[in-house]
Amino acid sequence: MTGKTHASCGVLVGALTTQYFHTDLFSSVTIIIIATIASLLPDICHTQSKIGRRFKVISFFIRLFIGHRTFTHSILFIILIASLLHLIYTPIYYMAAVIAGLASHIILDMLTPKGVKLLYPLPFDIKSPITFKTGGLLDLSLATALTIGAVYVLFQTYIDDIMNYWNIRLF
Ligand SMILES: [Zn+2]
Repeated sequence: MTGKTHASCGVLVGALTTQYFHTDLFSSVTIIIIATIASLLPDICHTQSKIGRRFKVISFFIRLFIGHRTFTHSILFIILIASLLHLIYTPIYYMAAVIAGLASHIILDMLTPKGVKLLYPLPFDIKSPITFKTGGLLDLSLATALTIGAVYVLFQTYIDDIMNYWNIRLF
């Protein structure tokens, strides 16, 4: 998957998280930013990725010692990050944003032919029964669909807020 697809999915899961927890505006913006970063984070193992290019040195060493789409694309990685956040008393909605962002990345990569080492350190590549190529037409369409979904969820929340504020009832 391209970084664009991952990021648009990150915005979408972030928007859904804000809706689920009914967060205020400040927390909502933070949640969406956190979820987007988390949705790109697993590709830190990939020096050519959006996030890898920004953190070249870290990215290089992770790739050297662990490899691409292994540890950072596993359930173990999510559990480790979640435990770390729990340790520093991260509010539940920020934690949910991180976990949802990471999970969205791994699920999307499972849709590609290469799959991911979901059960790392076990060596199995796990992928969905139906896969498609990164950067292909389906990847692009998926990015577009996810963006539309994200805008819809955000817009819907915003409209709901305005309606509640003015106490407008449609029915
Ligand atoms: Zn990835």
